[in-house]
Amino acid sequence: MKKVNKTMLALSLTGVMTIGALATGNLHTSAVGNGPNYNGNESIQTSILTTYDELVDYLQKQEAKQQVMELEVIGETVKGRDIYMAKFIKDESNPTILFLTQQHGNEQLTTEGAMQFIKHLGTGKTRSVLDHVNILVIPMLNADGAMGDVNFPTDHYIADGDRHLTRANANNIDLNREHAKAVSAMEPEARALHENVLEKYTIDYLIDLHHQGARSERDGELVSGSILYPTSPNVDSAVIEKSKQLGAVVFHEIESKGWGHLGKYSGGNADNIGRNGIATRYNIATLLFEMRGMSDHTNPSAVLGQKSNGYLIKQTVNTLDSTVKAIANGSIQQVDTSFWETLPYQNTRQGEESDE
Ligand SMILES: [Zn+2]
Repeated sequence: MKKVNKTMLALSLTGVMTIGALATGNLHTSAVGNGPNYNGNESIQTSILTTYDELVDYLQKQEAKQQVMELEVIGETVKGRDIYMAKFIKDESNPTILFLTQQHGNEQLTTEGAMQFIKHLGTGKTRSVLDHVNILVIPMLNADGAMGDVNFPTDHYIADGDRHLTRANANNIDLNREHAKAVSAMEPEARALHENVLEKYTIDYLIDLHHQGARSERDGELVSGSILYPTSPNVDSAVIEKSKQLGAVVFHEIESKGWGHLGKYSGGNADNIGRNGIATRYNIATLLFEMRGMSDHTNPSAVLGQKSNGYLIKQTVNTLDSTVKAIANGSIQQVDTSFWETLPYQNTRQGEESDE
């Protein structure tokens, strides 16, 4: 941990003000490319990101405000932080979708987006979807990594601010490689997800939200993100088709935005990856969504300056909003999935981090 100096303190105070902006959704939305990746001039600030304690406080306030919302602690991180799940269940016979963020602690804007989405569910405009779909949100699964409270050095991470954010959990294990193990052998965070959520609830859909590096492109243009359905040979073909429908809803939603430009993610086929293992084990339709740019990393090409935060948070909110609507009104079952046959894999420029 770096010593706090006056500059950093000032930046932290700026961060406190920015959190208000994140929470109320007032951030400017700009096109891909307007937020350049790290070039040594634009700072990468982690102090503007919501801390674990702030997240818990926010969730508890939303729970108090929203009749349907219920918080559940599904387990504990290695360092003893409670892992929260926000539940919106009105009718157990309705289809259920789970949104998961921050298996990788250094990929946080998806959590900021999930927080806004949770708030939307309490408003008159959005609340009616809850008559037709059940929603589970696990924001910040890897809370220790998100807070940089880990049992390994973080000196070589490049972001400024009051903390570093790490991909791995406190034991330096990648939680998104835990999914093929016996549940009892998993790291505590992955075990909580499997034992107390995937095994206990009947879940139809999962979107696993991540961030990739900042320099991937499709058709010569930088992408705002990339998507992929399960590719393990062990996944039932009907589950793959349902996953492609989930991806189609997201693709059409995001591509319709001026700033939205998605590629196909080039991912592995092994069941230790959540996208695959969760589809194989539970017959849940899954979608990996990789947003552009990580919140902290050791590799400068992986991170984005904070000018891009607005559209990346919005991309998460749009994704969550559009999928719950499509499930609620049944349109997900009629969506055209043919784009998957022509969507090119994104190109990765030299030095890029692929993530998942
Ligand atoms: Zn990731």
